[in-house]
Amino acid sequence: RISSRVAVKCIASPPVEDVPALAHRTKVARNEHVAKLQVGYLFPERAQALSTVQGYTGYGAEQGDKNLRAAIASTFYQNLGIEEDDVFVSDGVKCDISRLQVLFGSKVTMAIQDPAYPAYVRSSVILGQTGPFQENGERFAKLEYMKCTPDNDFFPDLSNVARTDVIVFCSPNNPTGLAASREQLTRLVQFAKDNGSIIVYDSEYSMYMSEAHKPRSIFDIPGAQEVAIEVSSFSKYAGFTGVRLGWTVVPKQLLYSDGFPVAKDFSRVICTAFNGASNIAQAGGLACLSPDGLKAMSQMVGFYKENTGIITETFNDLGFKVYRGVNAPYVWVHFPGRSSWEVFSEILEKTHVVTIPGSGFGPSGEGFVRVSGFGHRDNVLEACKRFKDLYK
Ligand code: PLP
Repeated sequence: RISSRVAVKCIASPPVEDVPALAHRTKVARNEHVAKLQVGYLFPERAQALSTVQGYTGYGAEQGDKNLRAAIASTFYQNLGIEEDDVFVSDGVKCDISRLQVLFGSKVTMAIQDPAYPAYVRSSVILGQTGPFQENGERFAKLEYMKCTPDNDFFPDLSNVARTDVIVFCSPNNPTGLAASREQLTRLVQFAKDNGSIIVYDSEYSMYMSEAHKPRSIFDIPGAQEVAIEVSSFSKYAGFTGVRLGWTVVPKQLLYSDGFPVAKDFSRVICTAFNGASNIAQAGGLACLSPDGLKAMSQMVGFYKENTGIITETFNDLGFKVYRGVNAPYVWVHFPGRSSWEVFSEILEKTHVVTIPGSGFGPSGEGFVRVSGFGHRDNVLEACKRFKDLYK
């Protein structure tokens, strides 16, 4: 039975004039279609509890459970100027990347690291932000590919990157494993500020970082709150890939070119395209952020890092050039002059171990394969034994 009706105000839009005159504004135009939505969207909720009349909960707040938002803010963003209401709980980074694309709309231009996690490019293509696939160049027209290779130590040469509205940047990067330094991220933030761009920063793997002096969040860089959104999740920290739980931080200081807060429109998009993360998953996430949960997460991350260390050592011993296993659960192995797909097939056919061909992450991934440390120890040891037999 319905015990009470609670009106949840999905959006409260402060007048644009409330924005302080001196606040930094990006040059990204607000998506006019999102702006067409009604200002206040009120709807009733059934406040019940799961298995009992007293305790059942139906739809929760789309933005996430208040306690979880607060715990994420205090665990990952303490002293970084991020507050509980800047945190939007999600069902993972992949899903929120697409919701962010819906937020920005089809008129924005986008830059991505090359190579990068494929969902950034694909969601951009689906939204219509790019031109057609250019068969010869192996890239989509109108998309700015920021080349990341051993020649530039996997950090893009920003002086060669064209201005775009949005810059997607992942650190530690999948697949290259690059964890950007404070100085590099400071340059990236300044670049975004100068260009009036918005950075979408993916910190899916930041708990895997061994180099403690490097920032784990873009918000560790002063001023980033005015130019960046951060996406992250419990998938790789707590084995929640199937449970599905993540978050997106949209600071209230981040403004469109007309001064309207990006977070307000993001809230509209998630109220429309998402009904909140599962309450069971959110309870699990909260448990992960308890002292015991944090300890368990760090042990799990440590286990996979050991796997990555074993794989790195194997390829090093075999004389391959191996990149960046210390800050990510992946090993990026170079096979200069060879095609990624050819190496992938060779490894698959001769060892029955599945790797990922580097060119699948973008044209600059050609000549590499990515080997993952996510696996049972016995399987990793067996795979490494087979690599040694193949390449000795
Ligand atoms: N971002 C990066 C860089 C990834 O490598 C992955 C998954 O492999 C994701 C995001 C998606 O993760 P999820 O949606 O489970 O948070």
